[in-house]
Amino acid sequence: MLLAIRQHLGIKLFISYLIVILVGVLVLASAVELAVPSAFERHLAVMSAMMSSMMGNSLSVETDLFINFRRAVTEALTLAALAASAAAVLASVFISRQVVAPLRSMMLASQRIAEGHYNERVQVPGDAARGELDELAQLALRFNQMAAKLEQIEAMRRALIGDVAHELRTPLTAIKGSMEGLIDGVLPADPETFQQVYQEADRLSRLVDDLQELSRVEAEGFDLKRRPISVALLVEAAISRLSRQFDDKGVALRAELLADLPLVYADEDRIGQVLLNLTGNALQYTPSGGRVILRARRQGNEVHIAVVDSGIGIRAEHLPYIFDRFYRVDKSRSRPGGGSGIGLTIARHLVEAHGGRLRAESPGPGKGSTFTFTLPLAQ
Ligand code: ADP
Repeated sequence: MLLAIRQHLGIKLFISYLIVILVGVLVLASAVELAVPSAFERHLAVMSAMMSSMMGNSLSVETDLFINFRRAVTEALTLAALAASAAAVLASVFISRQVVAPLRSMMLASQRIAEGHYNERVQVPGDAARGELDELAQLALRFNQMAAKLEQIEAMRRALIGDVAHELRTPLTAIKGSMEGLIDGVLPADPETFQQVYQEADRLSRLVDDLQELSRVEAEGFDLKRRPISVALLVEAAISRLSRQFDDKGVALRAELLADLPLVYADEDRIGQVLLNLTGNALQYTPSGGRVILRARRQGNEVHIAVVDSGIGIRAEHLPYIFDRFYRVDKSRSRPGGGSGIGLTIARHLVEAHGGRLRAESPGPGKGSTFTFTLPLAQ
């Protein structure tokens, strides 16, 4: 019995209602018990004065009246208390059910989710749009949000495994094909064949490095060594690292920085990595004869750093996806040695870890692209 009470919120609620009803009835009975005699006496005094003038022996009439009145009051009160208690018991059963039902459905749904059914949701009573949610409805709403997040994470996990398998298969198939060709004597054992195998192995190892880096930056609370740093120095470092590759391809690279740029609060290595990635992409997707400009300006409490290129541009329909992992606009084309489509995903994570945003804009194919990220000012 005690165990049943401990285990069921409905029974607990019901017992608490019963206690409230009992206390109410007791208070009512004792209040009546105390108040009836004096009230009755006051009324009787007036009546007996009138009656004694009409009849004689008023004392016995008074006593009879009092006893009968008391009986009548007690009878009426007992009936009223019984009817009220019955109504209250019915109401409390109904209310307990109302309170417990959503909790019970959440319990069942969480059990289903624990078993791997991530599409499970509970009904939210009330109108969320009009803010008509009580605590239980809010709990149901948060529960659904949590379930949706879990479902999304599960879908991403599945997609990631599929994507990784797919990405690994391409270079592995190439390596295997070349090796079979060598074994069967179909391919000549010359430096060109070995170079092909080496390039695919290199692509594979870069993919694994990228994946490792991605899992590092996606992990909660990865380490950032932030300090006040100069944007001009960051930009100069990126330019000096890449200027030879730009010269080789015949793409112009220059910086346009506004004077008196304030310091930003950032991890120099990580933001340097973001800048290198964006500038490297700009070089990759800009044909020779084009140009790439690194711009920086202050706006409010942030510095906006933009990598503007005059390259192949990005169609509007691809823009929302280019930060997704493994997303490549042109699936068939990849960097010499293979772009994994993870670079921008890592860059966005790094910028967001600094409290900034990274976005891409492009007026369309052939009209260049602009990648802009923000960084908070150093206080
Ligand atoms: P990848 O290693 O393939 O370059 P990223 O994550 O760096 O991967 O980029 C994702 C995709 O976004 C690229 O495959 C490319 O299609 C597109 N992209 C990135 N930068 C540019 C750019 N500057 N101009 C045009 N397209 C770009």
